[in-house]
Amino acid sequence: MLHKNHQFDVIITGAGPAGATCALTLHGKGLKVALVDKSVFPRDKICGDAVSSVVRRVLNQINPDLAEQLMAFEPKASITQATVYSPSFHTLTVRFSKVGYCIPRLKFDNWLYEHAVNHPDITAISGVGVKSVATHETGVSVTLDNGETITGKVLVGCDGAHSIAAKQLANFKVDRKHYSGAVRQYYKNVANLDGQTLEIYLLEDYLPGYFWIFPLANQEANVGFGMLSETIANQKIDLKKSIQDIINKIPEVKERFKHAEAIDGIKGFGLPLGSKRYPISGNRYMLCGDAASLIDPWSGEGIETAMESGKFAGEQLLKQWASGDFSAKALAGYDERVYKKMWPKFRNHYYLQKLLSDRIPLINGLVRLANIPWINKRIAKLM
Ligand SMILES: Cc1cc2nc3c(=O)[nH]c(=O)nc-3n(C[C@H](O)[C@H](O)[C@H](O)COP(=O)(O)OP(=O)(O)OC[C@H]3O[C@@H](n4cnc5c(N)ncnc54)[C@H](O)[C@@H]3O)c2cc1C
Repeated sequence: MLHKNHQFDVIITGAGPAGATCALTLHGKGLKVALVDKSVFPRDKICGDAVSSVVRRVLNQINPDLAEQLMAFEPKASITQATVYSPSFHTLTVRFSKVGYCIPRLKFDNWLYEHAVNHPDITAISGVGVKSVATHETGVSVTLDNGETITGKVLVGCDGAHSIAAKQLANFKVDRKHYSGAVRQYYKNVANLDGQTLEIYLLEDYLPGYFWIFPLANQEANVGFGMLSETIANQKIDLKKSIQDIINKIPEVKERFKHAEAIDGIKGFGLPLGSKRYPISGNRYMLCGDAASLIDPWSGEGIETAMESGKFAGEQLLKQWASGDFSAKALAGYDERVYKKMWPKFRNHYYLQKLLSDRIPLINGLVRLANIPWINKRIAKLM
């Protein structure tokens, strides 16, 4: 193969939002970059498909043309608000200060990926997984599933929730207190679907956790249910059965799905949450996105943080390039920048997750209280 024993400056493992954004940040700076992914794009990623307004901001910082393209992207639903249903089915609607989108990841990720690899300085190696990674004094080496090895000066691990880079370089292990599991299924013709509203249900028998209905274009919806992995394990919860029970047995939800049709099967995946701080860089490597455990512990959003961390990692590399110093000490500035930006929100959302947990009267009370206009306005500002 062309890339056999190839030497690169930077090897990015994983070409999802984190990896593609890192590649876009490094493009045009005179570096030879490899972007390796085990999948061939377009590929699906199990997700709620909610692309927050921060994504547009990050794209705008890298290349304003990409932000423009995202605004014109089709098919998409433009999201202006979220409605939270309490266990007593009281509602709280919060309007977002900036519009977000719902776009199937199959399409969003492919769009971003195509932009990243559409440059001669970015070499796409796709359809072959990373088997092992190693760093040494003068560089990094990545062995692929087909037995080939590629080498580089630095590695950026963007290979998602089951990251090889995080396991082998940073010794990451799943901590169920800071990890969630969730399932997703696509539907069409869910009744009374508001194309601009994310629906989040905090349901009495399914706490702590939430069921969601997120609108997509063409009367389709992304429907899902997620919970903290610790609860799933302790209470032996079957997420696939839970989502079916919610849809088939809870009257308010059942009514909505009377004429709805599932488009695909129920699929599940893990969410490494940002409620615990990890060292996310070391000698000649940095980790981004899910590989660095950067999902918001309350909302479950991880696309924006994946992209922002991918951008930060790219910028950290560019800063270090002239000196060629990729030591753990030199790259520690990446950890600082990521956590300075993300930790205050992660920490607050972790406290919120802990506070609400399965406290039904408290959730019911807070949802009602948050309908008071001035409180509602404050919440909207925080979104
Ligand atoms: C059910 C569910 C719902 C979610 N809903 C939302 C939501 O609505 N909004 C939101 O913002 N976030 C959501 N998230 C979180 C979001 O999906 C992730 O945070 C986001 O995808 C992280 O991007 P990433 O680039 O770090 O990783 P990924 O998107 O997972 O990309 C990693 C890439 O690495 C590749 N890869 C993996 N292993 C290897 C290997 N060994 N070798 C080579 N390549 C490899 C994969 O093929 C993949 O392309 C949800 C997650 C789940 C599970």
